[in-house]
Amino acid sequence: MNHDNYQVEPMISAKSIAARVESLATEISKHFADTDKLIVVGLLRGSFVFIADLARELDLPCEVDFLETSSYGNSTESSREVRILKDLRGEIEGKDILLVEDIVDTGHTLHHVLNLLKSRNPARLEVCALLDKPARREVDVSAKWIGFEIPDEFVVGYGIDYAQRNRNLDHIGKVVFK
Ligand code: 5GP
Ligand code: MG
Ligand code: MG
Repeated sequence: MNHDNYQVEPMISAKSIAARVESLATEISKHFADTDKLIVVGLLRGSFVFIADLARELDLPCEVDFLETSSYGNSTESSREVRILKDLRGEIEGKDILLVEDIVDTGHTLHHVLNLLKSRNPARLEVCALLDKPARREVDVSAKWIGFEIPDEFVVGYGIDYAQRNRNLDHIGKVVFK
């Protein structure tokens, strides 16, 4: 029984996500093939499922670390202010970093996090985002690897929430209010 005032309509199937994750991992493994100092950095909480699947498909030795930024809270509006709620545990100077994000929307989060990580002088810093909503961009940032480009819809599932729910859906769906 669903008591919520919204429904989740399927948008990207679990099967499509798995296939895309596999090909992203192949490209990323090639790109970083020459390094033994890769740190895969997940942006919490939305990337937790994606990073788990992606990291297991990488054909590379790597470390995994996490960073948490302030989120939308329970609203669907983007706050332009980005705060670090949980910082990395490890040093990244001289290391190769793959930043893993769930969605690039306005771009403010990625812009802020990239500036922060750059200030710590990693050797290389690249971004892989599961989803990209280019129509919503307010800041000029982009990810080197994108899973799927999607229209301006509010999506959930595969780690991504609405009011902290739906993260455990195995696919991506769009929120439709009843
Ligand atoms: P930004 O607007 O700063 O690029 O995106 C900030 C964050 O908002 C994203 O990393 C993601 O966590 C969240 N976000 C953006 N679009 C959506 C969406 O459609 N659904 C959900 N649940 N979160 C989103
Ligand atoms: Mg995010
Ligand atoms: Mg969120």
